[in-house]
Amino acid sequence: MKDTFTHRGMRKRLVETLQKKGIKSKQILEAINTIPRHLFMDSGFIDHAYVDKAFPIAADQTISQPYTVARQTELLGITKGDKVLEIGTGSGYQTAVLLELETQVYTIERQNELFKKTKRFLPKLGYRPKRFIFGDGYIGLEAEAPFDGIIVTAGAPYVPKPLLAQLKIGANLVIPVGDAVQIMTVFTRKSETEFEKNEYGEFRFVPLLEDKN
Ligand code: SAH
Repeated sequence: MKDTFTHRGMRKRLVETLQKKGIKSKQILEAINTIPRHLFMDSGFIDHAYVDKAFPIAADQTISQPYTVARQTELLGITKGDKVLEIGTGSGYQTAVLLELETQVYTIERQNELFKKTKRFLPKLGYRPKRFIFGDGYIGLEAEAPFDGIIVTAGAPYVPKPLLAQLKIGANLVIPVGDAVQIMTVFTRKSETEFEKNEYGEFRFVPLLEDKN
């Protein structure tokens, strides 16, 4: 597992690209500047690791586009020490970004192959979520609720109610909602019963799947 001078140079350019696309958070840009994204990808795609695009990982899934990861993280509005729930661990790249922000991360993945692979891989880079959970993101993680932020990294056909219920008051759920194309949607919990909804444009994700486990 190598991270070379060349990789670091490519990351710097990726960070400049993300800045041009409107990402402002210094901490998030620094996280992207730090994390060796090429190590999260299959060998066939390593040359493309620092292009701002999504790429295939195992089990027909994808590592999200860096811009998407940065944007979703920005919309979460989390700070150091916050308790964050991530749905769709995948390669663990988004998890690593959350951990670079010094948050406590609980991450759920429903694909067993990816779950096992990423659970083994992330600690090798020094990234340690509070918990890796093999399970269904639609139900969230009641046992650890409430959360300071919940991020869904797969396209949800609808908004799962348990995720709204597991937000602290003031916290955000960042979720791409839709079938073929998704609208990045943020729900902010205003009180026990009230949520504010804001939308942030179109994105494309692999689907948040139901009924497998
Ligand atoms: N954050 C990831 C993105 C992975 S793609 C990364 O940066 O690499 C979306 C992931 O969501 C896939 O790994 C997929 O298996 C997972 N997923 C799909 N439906 C799910 C569900 N119901 N619960 C948990 N994970 C799910």
